[in-house]
Amino acid sequence: TLPWQRERLPAAIAGLRAYDPGHDLVAWRRRFPGLLAELGSNETAIGPSPAALDAARSALASVYRYPDPLGGDLKRALSRLHGVDSDRIVLGNGSHELLMQLAQAFVPRDGTIVHSQYGFAVFAIAAAAVGAHAVCVPALPEDHASAPFGHDLDAMAAACEADTRLLYLANPNNPTGTWFELPALQHLLATVPASTLVVVDEAYGEFQPDARSASAMNLLAAHPNLVVTRTFSKAYALAGLRVGYALGHPDAMAVLERLRESFNVNGIALAAAEAALADESHLQKVLAHNERERERLARGFTAMGLRVWPSRTNFLLVGFSSSQRSAQIEGRLCERAVIVRPMVGYGLGQCLRISVGSTHENDRLLAALEESL
Ligand code: PMP
Repeated sequence: TLPWQRERLPAAIAGLRAYDPGHDLVAWRRRFPGLLAELGSNETAIGPSPAALDAARSALASVYRYPDPLGGDLKRALSRLHGVDSDRIVLGNGSHELLMQLAQAFVPRDGTIVHSQYGFAVFAIAAAAVGAHAVCVPALPEDHASAPFGHDLDAMAAACEADTRLLYLANPNNPTGTWFELPALQHLLATVPASTLVVVDEAYGEFQPDARSASAMNLLAAHPNLVVTRTFSKAYALAGLRVGYALGHPDAMAVLERLRESFNVNGIALAAAEAALADESHLQKVLAHNERERERLARGFTAMGLRVWPSRTNFLLVGFSSSQRSAQIEGRLCERAVIVRPMVGYGLGQCLRISVGSTHENDRLLAALEESL
């Protein structure tokens, strides 16, 4: 038998499915050149700060050299922004990489990871990749007042046992758009064993109305077992450059530093991310556009008789009468050069996840949806 034959693979790896981006976008772009409204990946269509693009262009001149292995300048900028010491920060090639490394670093084979139904897909992939036992806690019900389909923090805390190594939460969560308040997280942190690492994925953290006070970063000093992850892919609109970061106890971050690949964040990405952080006015522009357009889309979907769940992100979860109906509508949108994300893989087949696009893309989406219904 060859090493990659099923019977030779570790069981967890054999059972793993590749991360599914939903569509073959390259094929769709070829079919609708320059036309495609890409609303399936929660990107920020109005794009990054012009200063970030300038910095990326300047950094091109140095591509023959390895970048700063520690990303010192970016870490210092993040340290100033968040008011934490640099030794509490590690950089990743996207926050996806960090979410995986956290499992790799802190969860042994057959260790236990707790996550949530309808939680971000990478949590289950990370558990499988390290051969961990994943406990998936049922989400809050669909008609829950404040967080329909959201994480049930009390049940998640109760699912943690003395030997639970890691618990993943996303705030706000993808694909549900739901969020929880800090007191609920504080309660969870007071309940779970101190030996359980609590990872709060804040990929959409900047979109929260009181982003600073809503962040789990406020609890880092009091809880050494807390790690917060962030990304430049969403509100900073640098998804293609792959930069994320984790914040946590210096000793935990030192373990990640040992584990990460050398030069995991490239020099163009480091320069662009640093410049993006410095352009606060562009961030505010993105956030204002997102909120305005998200509410316009939500009103439009509701007027068409569709179910829309509350969201503090740059996307909306939209419900149809059945899985068949949502699949049919999704197909019709594709034919009209509008890409959205099917939710079958998440067990939410009756829903589509639709990212907030540019004003023009959103106009096209609303028109295409109206025709498709
Ligand atoms: N967390 C959540 C909740 C996400 O939705 C995403 C991107 N889809 C990520 C993490 C990963 O983002 P990135 O690797 O681009 O930082």
